[in-house]
Amino acid sequence: MERSVDLHLHTTASDGTMFPAELVKYAVEKGLSGIAITDHDTVDGIAEALEEASNHDIEVIPGIEISVEHKVEIHILGYFTKNNYTNIIKVLRVMQEAREERNKKIIKKLNEFGFDIHYEEVKNEAKGNIIGRPHIARVLKNKGYVSSMKDAFNKYLGRNGKAYFLRESKLSPEKAIQEILKSGGVPVIAHPILLGFGRKELEKLIVEFKQFGLKGIEVFYTENTTEQTSMLKIIAEKYELIKTGGSDFHGDNKDGIEIGKGKGHLKIPYSSIEQLKKLLE
Ligand code: AMP
Ligand code: FE
Ligand code: FE
Ligand code: ZN
Repeated sequence: MERSVDLHLHTTASDGTMFPAELVKYAVEKGLSGIAITDHDTVDGIAEALEEASNHDIEVIPGIEISVEHKVEIHILGYFTKNNYTNIIKVLRVMQEAREERNKKIIKKLNEFGFDIHYEEVKNEAKGNIIGRPHIARVLKNKGYVSSMKDAFNKYLGRNGKAYFLRESKLSPEKAIQEILKSGGVPVIAHPILLGFGRKELEKLIVEFKQFGLKGIEVFYTENTTEQTSMLKIIAEKYELIKTGGSDFHGDNKDGIEIGKGKGHLKIPYSSIEQLKKLLE
């Protein structure tokens, strides 16, 4: 059987619902030969995941998914070795502060709509230090204000929602990419199709980010169509970037996504890890 991997996963350290060790065991059960932990703006879950990995036959790569602003919100994945993932921590504080600010604005807006929702309750939904929209969504759902997490994003929290606010942070893609490189990591642009750009605009962005030091594109992704994946493969090859992939599994915080499989058709080749490891050497 061809080995498959999943290089985009969230734990309770950010907005996933599985604890890091639980997620590693789950990946082993599902037959994956390698995974990367890529929590939003934190590396808090990694030590536990690496510890658990030592009991199993699975490769666990320390990673991160950093949110940056570049007119729109863009996510940059960073992949590290076991020894260097902690160096990135200081840059993340900027993003964590911007999260706090934005969460408060969202909650205030929801209060204006008449919803009884408080920051403390949202904080209680999070098991780690990163508080994000999924935690707000869960409170809205638990209180019956929305029918599902998706409903919460469609109506209120998503880009076209009534309580949407962009995070105001000074973290630029250039800074995030360069800090990942400085820490000895590999920067990869996450799920570029979600940006909603046309091909020309996307290539322009990739060229710009490559100048900053970008090394890869997340080509294989849950939401991509076959055509979109083919297009990303072509772009990656054209600009000599590595091709990685992941499901963006969040446990019960994102419905219908399975680890390693996405919505069923996703398959991320082991070559993603090989290409990554070559750059990490
Ligand atoms: P934040 O990190 O606070 O900006 O929240 C973004 C997170 O919300 C993403 O990483 C997803 O986990 C989640 N998310 C975004 N859009 C949706 C959606 N339509 N349905 C469910 N979860 C979503
Ligand atoms: Fe998330
Ligand atoms: Fe993302
Ligand atoms: Zn993600």
